[in-house]
Amino acid sequence: MSAAYDTAIDYVQKFAPGIAEHLVRANATATQNSLYPGIDLSALSYFERLWADYYIYMGNAILATGVMSFVLHEVVYFGRAIPWLIIDALPFFRQWKIQQNKTVSSAQIWKCTKVVLLTHFTCEAPLIWLFHPICCYFGMATFEVPFSPLWLMAAQIAFFFVFEDMFHYWAHRALHWGPLYKNIHKLHHEFSAPIGLAAEYAHPLEVMILAQGTISGPFLYCLWRKDLHILTVYAWVTLRLFQAVDAHSGYDFPWSLRHFLPFWAGADHHDFHHMAFVNCFSTSFRWWDYSLGTDAKYHAYKERMAKAKAAERAAVEQAENARIEQEGVAAERVVLSYGKGKKQ
Ligand SMILES: [Zn+2]
Ligand SMILES: [Zn+2]
Repeated sequence: MSAAYDTAIDYVQKFAPGIAEHLVRANATATQNSLYPGIDLSALSYFERLWADYYIYMGNAILATGVMSFVLHEVVYFGRAIPWLIIDALPFFRQWKIQQNKTVSSAQIWKCTKVVLLTHFTCEAPLIWLFHPICCYFGMATFEVPFSPLWLMAAQIAFFFVFEDMFHYWAHRALHWGPLYKNIHKLHHEFSAPIGLAAEYAHPLEVMILAQGTISGPFLYCLWRKDLHILTVYAWVTLRLFQAVDAHSGYDFPWSLRHFLPFWAGADHHDFHHMAFVNCFSTSFRWWDYSLGTDAKYHAYKERMAKAKAAERAAVEQAENARIEQEGVAAERVVLSYGKGKKQ
């Protein structure tokens, strides 16, 4: 890593010396003395020691948090999305595919991968360098050890889930408003039957706007209490990525979480949003859509499907899906025509 790092630093030094001075790595002894003065690292648990060793090895906390955050996001996102591509290629799982008649081509998968990687490397990676200073500003623990107790992590993560779901519901509804839809959200709706990899297949501005729901929860929490550790935020981001990728998977298994937690949205809910274009705006939970009636069409569809006789269900489903998708195309056309009437 060292030679490549030195070359990169020389490059940054040349064009942005102000940034380069924040990326200089100190030696291990100096780092340990400045980050962990008077702390007996050998008294820590194995994972806490590993955490401290990593920050000491990196010799620069901004760099350490930045690299860890970026790598975590890539590993979790693709680590969760790739198995869905494999599942999609196996005929055995087809029985649980939500939109049975839909398939994705390898050209679509490739285009989706390119857009996602481009956004990650051009928009997210540079911003991730700001993550550590922002965490410090809000008083979030980063390199510090020990970690938070498990009960506290669970309570904090529960709050982040509820906050993100609320933020996403309203931001997503706003993104369906003509000007925002046309210029930003339209790209994400290219998939009327999504795949796991398409969770972040979106305009960079959309990724930035919706990411606020994920990351603002922890920062808001920090304004209230000073007991949040970045490891808890990483656990939360991991679960949120699992949720987002799974919601786009296109599969609803008998063992999917929503069958055990009736308020969990799951792929069943978000897949309908992609197919129908309207309804089901939230991410993790169903309560916002349910309370505000933005799932009426979804429930009517589910009811018609439940009433269909078993022998006819496949045919009814195919006809229903085709009709709902057509209505969705018409609804999208109305949103896209926003402002056109006024000009004439
Ligand atoms: Zn949408
Ligand atoms: Zn989506």
